[in-house]
Amino acid sequence: MDKPSHNISQLRRDPVSGDWAVIATGRAKRPHEFKSKEKAKKSTVCPFEEPEKNANEVVFTLEHEGYKDGWWVKVIKNKFPIVEGTICGVEVQNGPYTIQEGAGYHEVIITRDHDRSLAQMTSEEVLGVVNVYIERYKKLQELDCANYILVFHNHGVEAGASLPHPHSQIIAVPVIPPDVRRSLVGSEKYYEEKGECVHCAMLAWERDEKVRIVYENAHMIVISPYVPRDEFEVRIYPKVHSSFVQKSSQEEITSLAEALRVTLKKIHISLSNPAYNFFLHTAPARDSKHHDHYHWHVEILPKPPTPHAGFEMGTGIDVSMVDPDEVATYLRDTSI
Ligand SMILES: [Zn+2]
Ligand SMILES: [Zn+2]
Repeated sequence: MDKPSHNISQLRRDPVSGDWAVIATGRAKRPHEFKSKEKAKKSTVCPFEEPEKNANEVVFTLEHEGYKDGWWVKVIKNKFPIVEGTICGVEVQNGPYTIQEGAGYHEVIITRDHDRSLAQMTSEEVLGVVNVYIERYKKLQELDCANYILVFHNHGVEAGASLPHPHSQIIAVPVIPPDVRRSLVGSEKYYEEKGECVHCAMLAWERDEKVRIVYENAHMIVISPYVPRDEFEVRIYPKVHSSFVQKSSQEEITSLAEALRVTLKKIHISLSNPAYNFFLHTAPARDSKHHDHYHWHVEILPKPPTPHAGFEMGTGIDVSMVDPDEVATYLRDTSI
């Protein structure tokens, strides 16, 4: 790997798109290990039952007497982090490319029960998990190199979950990720042109139309987006404009946890436990720019029936074979 490389990974910027990519060689191995038969090797012992015994460094425990071993949520440092370390911010030119250290933090948030996914948990249990998301977010945002922090969850092998034991992840990187940057630029442009938050405008229109709302409670609204990326994509938004999730009140976080639980349960039931990813998009906690025009939200993406193929990859135009109006009706009418 080219210099600099004190860390296990390196960030490289594509000079054409301006997008960053990570070369995380500490995570995977050599190219030949990607052969199908190598990938099929599976561990039979779940390392998340007793994380400490597997040399995992536990950084936080949500204790709860009612559960096996007395805990409900544990947060560990990822043994195979995508980014790690505190040397950041030094950009170096390498030919036409800009590179920098893949610094940051990568934690795994584990719930106690091996066989119960978020969709199968109680309101109180999901609230415990979401509270931990926010608490860890607040802790990481104080650290060096944590310029963008992403909370995400992979459920099912097809969604990239490397272990079946339910777990979420939180990762802090030194750069603003390309997808987030595009959304920040787009919502800033809309704000400058129209003088209002683009997400608030979309939500106001959805509340008027009343066809793509999947669920709502005191503080959150769940919609099937008019312009979806995939079939069955849903998004959770706070009803009142807010750029930073970590500034939410406990009441709002409770509403978020319940909206997440209800939506995942509806997806679990109506689509027979599909694989899915979800992630939380919030304005960067630390940036020289103001991001008050941004509106935080959660995007939930069940794996589409057919993977993105040449057309989507070659054009960036996503194809959904189901009308988002019908997706909303289908999920709304699913009793949980
Ligand atoms: Zn397990
Ligand atoms: Zn807004």
